[in-house]
Amino acid sequence: MQPCRCTNCQQMFAIDLKEKDHGKGITETFFSCSFCNHRYLVTVTNRTIRNRISKFSNEWAKMSKLRNGKEWDKDVWMKKYEKLQTYKPVTNEMIHKLKAQ
Ligand SMILES: [Zn+2]
Repeated sequence: MQPCRCTNCQQMFAIDLKEKDHGKGITETFFSCSFCNHRYLVTVTNRTIRNRISKFSNEWAKMSKLRNGKEWDKDVWMKKYEKLQTYKPVTNEMIHKLKAQ
């Protein structure tokens, strides 16, 4: 838990992340101010987004391993890297759309 200043009441409070299940695999992550109950939305994910996030970190872990190895093809690696770079914004866009709902 980390302390944070509430933008609503200016009090310091400790962030306690909570998850709310919205059904259909949609999960909302949020925390609220312990003084005024002001709600801060962290993220909203569904099954597809969670799959994408875990796939991304798996791929990323694989690539870090590859790079630490003695033999790695830089061109292949760069191609994978570029592909992975486009992966995250798409996921973020999906989260953004879900948040707006
Ligand atoms: Zn507050």
